[in-house]
Amino acid sequence: MQNFDVVIIGGGAAGLACAAALKREDGSLDVAVCEKGERAGRKLAATGNGQGNISNLDMSPAHYHGSAASLAYGIISGGGYDIKSLFDCLFVSDRSGRVYPAGKQASSLSDCLIRSCSRSGVKLLLNAAVTQIEKGFVLTLASGEKLGARTAVFAFGGAAQRQFGTDGKSYSLAHSMGHTVTGLLPCIVQLKCGTQHIKTLKGIRAECLVRAHDKGGAPLCETSGDVIFTDYGVSGNAVFYCSSYVAGKEGAYLSLGFLPSVREEEIARNVALKKELGYPDSELLCGTLHNQIGRAIMRRCASTDPKVIAHAVKNFTLPIEGSLGFDYAQVTRGGIPADEVDGCLQSKKADGLYIIGEALDVDGDCGGYNLTWAFASAMHAAKAICGGTCYD
Ligand SMILES: Cc1cc2nc3c(=O)[nH]c(=O)nc-3n(C[C@H](O)[C@H](O)[C@H](O)COP(=O)(O)OP(=O)(O)OC[C@H]3O[C@@H](n4cnc5c(N)ncnc54)[C@H](O)[C@@H]3O)c2cc1C
Repeated sequence: MQNFDVVIIGGGAAGLACAAALKREDGSLDVAVCEKGERAGRKLAATGNGQGNISNLDMSPAHYHGSAASLAYGIISGGGYDIKSLFDCLFVSDRSGRVYPAGKQASSLSDCLIRSCSRSGVKLLLNAAVTQIEKGFVLTLASGEKLGARTAVFAFGGAAQRQFGTDGKSYSLAHSMGHTVTGLLPCIVQLKCGTQHIKTLKGIRAECLVRAHDKGGAPLCETSGDVIFTDYGVSGNAVFYCSSYVAGKEGAYLSLGFLPSVREEEIARNVALKKELGYPDSELLCGTLHNQIGRAIMRRCASTDPKVIAHAVKNFTLPIEGSLGFDYAQVTRGGIPADEVDGCLQSKKADGLYIIGEALDVDGDCGGYNLTWAFASAMHAAKAICGGTCYD
């Protein structure tokens, strides 16, 4: 049996970052990363539409959800971790504050971490699914091989997008260490809507102010961005953002405000003009919105009063009937609850076991918040493993 100082279970964003950070903290440590896939960092290389949105200039606590949200935000904001220092890259931010590697290639993030690991002597074991862990620690791989570790790190991610190795089965490792796992929900995901409302809109993309409401009408969130109409419902950045706020909320609905930069009164004046010019009712929004969107709004409008139509343009409601689920979600809501780890992210059930990244019960909004957590939690655990002080 090979023995290591630290074995990290999962060679994704958090696992690779933790290995690199550990070697930076203490180059003499014998560190291994077990990755069940044939390549490490596969999900990281697909992030941000292939561009790798690693962080956001707006880092407020409201962007994190789950029982570990405040622990996560405390580590991110109070830990002083420079997550960019993990990469030999330049970074840029866009108009909405999203931070990317300057080359806008997510694969460069995985490449940098893998290079950093191999430069510093981390043993990266591929096709190495950990199937069992016993306190002590003794890890069993799917091949039957056993590894010994003084310290173990759970970096096995969540249940979103199984093609990246994250099918949720690794929560059983947490159970075997005495941990619980909360209910799980897919987040940052396309939403299913009553398609009878939008069946003529398939393939159309529109910039909108999008608000989500619960079934009683209480606001859940608001954001601006693209909405893409599809055969099942809606997709696009703004929808991904809202999906985190409607997850698990039955009866929630979206309200789309088309033409975010045009005031309602201006739209009403234009509709009044078209009425005067004799446009048919179905065409009163022609030239103001994409024709199909204009007609869909007019089909719903009980009146041809310009003010009523303008109001409908700003409040196009869509009932949410679910999401495309874990196979399409970018992140998992839920995981190992916050009260089962200490401020160092060390397990309260097994000394020497640390839990980082998406495996914990914390998920961030769309916009770079999840990778920020993956990297900050990795650096935090690495520092703690090497004897550093912890956030409390
Ligand atoms: C398509 C897509 C786009 C995204 N875009 C963004 C974005 O732009 N910005 C952002 O902030 N977030 C984004 N995310 C979310 C972000 O990628 C994740 O939150 C982040 O990767 C989580 O890091 P992690 O290390 O905890 O888990 P992961 O990166 O999922 O890594 C977990 C790894 O563990 C391995 N593993 C699992 N079980 C075992 C086992 N038993 N033994 C060995 N290995 C195991 C898996 O194969 C996997 O490689 C995106 C996600 C997806 C799917």
